[in-house]
Amino acid sequence: MKKRIAIFGSTGSIGTQALEVIEANPDLFEVEILTAHSNDELLVQQALKFNPNAVVIVDEKKYQQVKSALSSTDVKVFAGEKALEEVAAFDTYDLMLAAIVGFAGLPPTLRALEGKKTIALANKETLVVAGEIVMNRSVVNKAPILPVDSEHSAIFQCLIGEYRNPIEKIILTASGGPFRGKKPNFLLNVKRDHALQHPNWSMGAKITIDSATLMNKGLEMIEAKWLFNLRPEQVQVIIHPQSIIHSMVQFEDGSIKAQMGLPDMKLPIQYALGFPTRLKNDFPRFDFKKINNLTFEEPDLKTFRNLALAIEALNKGGNLPCVLNAANEIAVWAFLRNRIGFLDMTDLIEKTMQKIPFIQTPTLEEYFDSDAEARNYAASILSM
Ligand code: NAD
Ligand code: MG
Repeated sequence: MKKRIAIFGSTGSIGTQALEVIEANPDLFEVEILTAHSNDELLVQQALKFNPNAVVIVDEKKYQQVKSALSSTDVKVFAGEKALEEVAAFDTYDLMLAAIVGFAGLPPTLRALEGKKTIALANKETLVVAGEIVMNRSVVNKAPILPVDSEHSAIFQCLIGEYRNPIEKIILTASGGPFRGKKPNFLLNVKRDHALQHPNWSMGAKITIDSATLMNKGLEMIEAKWLFNLRPEQVQVIIHPQSIIHSMVQFEDGSIKAQMGLPDMKLPIQYALGFPTRLKNDFPRFDFKKINNLTFEEPDLKTFRNLALAIEALNKGGNLPCVLNAANEIAVWAFLRNRIGFLDMTDLIEKTMQKIPFIQTPTLEEYFDSDAEARNYAASILSM
């Protein structure tokens, strides 16, 4: 039996790499659903190649193009945001690869969990926004969440066989991004195109900016807390510029396990799709003889204040991570359009976190409200 895969966000960096993994393993996987926001041309191309049961184009203006391009096939075509949830509720797939970027990934993932589907989770924002509710739905429905984020995949791999052994702490590694070692006077003048150049990873625009500000690592700390049921003080970050150690787990005897390899997202994607089997591949191998140095340094929280804000949200919990995430999505959006500077992103997030009322144990509805309020407030600062 082939695993039937639904890729939510198939036209993105994670989505396209997942399709490469699937193409290389035709006996193991088949594509059931593909979704895209607005890239109709790539979605159509993917649908013609992989022949899914259904596709969703979120941008309704593109519906006719997709529909007519696929008219000679029996691929069902849906459009609009709500359609994401409708197809997520289909019972014709086994595993959802959640590879939409941002808060938009949350509703379809919740639907998939209700349908007892396995989730391969790339969309970290889902856990940042509503981690408690998402993990609870996973447990209640016995629907496993397999991490795709490379750090969390590393930790997940280190924990195999350690079921009874408590974690003392986890150590998330961070490359430090393109501005590692820089100070605020440099960051003040950083422009979009410079920030979009990541030294080790090629990724979508939003996560690339998050990597440059270190917000990505903050989101990952919150993601890790939920995935591995940790207290905030058990989650540590260390800068490791070579990105060879993808993260580590320290156990109560002081022993540390690390997962290593070249930085290539296809590895954690393939591990999640194939789990529990490690699939043979011909990706380039890491050679210890060629890298003579693995180095580590403390993150600079005074310069990269987004990480400090995320740690504050991690510690306080409640709706604060949701507010942080919403404000950050607006900030990155504005930075990518040259509306605000690099350091202004931090101010926008900080002001929004101070403004939106704190809720200790939000309901799902309150998370949606907090997200909307935070977005509106951040947007109102932008237009001042
Ligand atoms: P991307 O921007 O390259 O792709 C995003 C995908 O989501 C696209 O298919 C797009 O059409 C779709 N999308 C965007 N906005 C949407 C909306 N409002 N509604 C529905 N669909 C929408 O992003 P990416 O780099 O592939 O990242 C996807 C997720 O995976 C993010 O949460 C990111 O943090 C996470 N992630 C990515 C990487 C990476 O290497 N790219 C690594 C770890 C984690
Ligand atoms: Mg990561």
